[in-house]
Amino acid sequence: MSEPLVTRMQGFGTTIFAEMSALAVRTGAINLGQGFPDTDGPPAMLETAIETIRSGGNQYPPGPGIPELRAAVAAQREDRYGLSYDPDGEVLITVGATEAIAASIMALAEPGDEVAVFEPYYDSYAAVIALAGAVRRPVTLRPERQGGRFTFDPDELRAAITPRTKLMLVNSPHNPVGTVFTREELEVIADVCREHDLIAVTDEVYEYLTYDDAEHIPLATLPGMRERTVAISSSGKTFSATGWKVGWVTAPEPLVRAVQTVKQFLTYVSSAPWQRAVAYALSNELAWVADLRKSLEAKRDRLMTGLEAAGFTAYRPQGTYFVQADIRPLGFDDGLELVRALPDKAGVVAVPTQVFYDNAAAGAHFVRFAFCKRDEVINDAVRRLSQLT
Ligand code: PMP
Ligand code: GLN
Repeated sequence: MSEPLVTRMQGFGTTIFAEMSALAVRTGAINLGQGFPDTDGPPAMLETAIETIRSGGNQYPPGPGIPELRAAVAAQREDRYGLSYDPDGEVLITVGATEAIAASIMALAEPGDEVAVFEPYYDSYAAVIALAGAVRRPVTLRPERQGGRFTFDPDELRAAITPRTKLMLVNSPHNPVGTVFTREELEVIADVCREHDLIAVTDEVYEYLTYDDAEHIPLATLPGMRERTVAISSSGKTFSATGWKVGWVTAPEPLVRAVQTVKQFLTYVSSAPWQRAVAYALSNELAWVADLRKSLEAKRDRLMTGLEAAGFTAYRPQGTYFVQADIRPLGFDDGLELVRALPDKAGVVAVPTQVFYDNAAAGAHFVRFAFCKRDEVINDAVRRLSQLT
């Protein structure tokens, strides 16, 4: 049979996360690849899901999501960021942030439209841009000479915008480089969006996972941006429940309506018991999340110290679950090659960052390690990595 897969999806193969997690299972290596915690979320949230299942909350929820969760999401945006959204019409519950991103791009980009995106980019962005028949225009994030924080050159951002650009996709806190965009950086992005009449799609799934003094500022809070921003977040990272896949969109009503028009034919609805549990957690478990943040900050430092001792140049992330590490000081220069050999060489699995770049050369020497793991797992992994040299 000739290749049955449509041309626009050829080349996407298996996601790197699935490939690397399968490699970890096959080899018994420690999995610092795919970003999922190895401890559970707040016990009362888990109980709420169980209780909802036991008490018959198992049928289709309403299309936009259960009212309690939409109200909880609207309250969270208001309390934390001063952003007001009407739970009836400006909030949409989705199957994780992944579905929200897919439905937003498919709803808002025509074939041939361009989507500006910072690279390295989360892998699903490229795939759904391709599915929509749209074209990605990457803007590369590079480490600053001083301090190594990854950022973009405003001129490169401006140069990536053309008359065909329709959307600007912004992920902050950023996976995999760990940057939390500052107000100044967001001002540049907002200027570009306003000047070229772009819609911003913001991926804020790590909104609570910021460290040191970094503060997550939603792009929609900048002047003139609420009206043109589709903001996306999810419960997976905030409540250590990545398998629950409860996400959401907040945006002005016409944008939510557009996204919902696509979303309803992708999955219609999902996850009734988990929607109830996440509504509970958003309203009652933010103190638990504050503790999670603190514990992840310490894990970040633990992994940073270990990677540096093992000889990597490690870039201290301001947010997320991940450390980006340069492998060249260890004598390697191809991250993909190294991570495929790493289970044998060191009994550890990581993610090669180059698969998140169009400009693969810019990312060839970076490898991403996750630190959302128990301390003993991180210790064991860095001990193994220290034998690489
Ligand atoms: N965006 C980014 C930047 C991510 O790292 C992830 C992975 N969790 C997602 C989106 C997908 O989120 P979800 O699991 O809620 O679909
Ligand atoms: N977001 C997680 C990561 O970056 C994994 C998501 C996935 O497996 N698709 O590792």
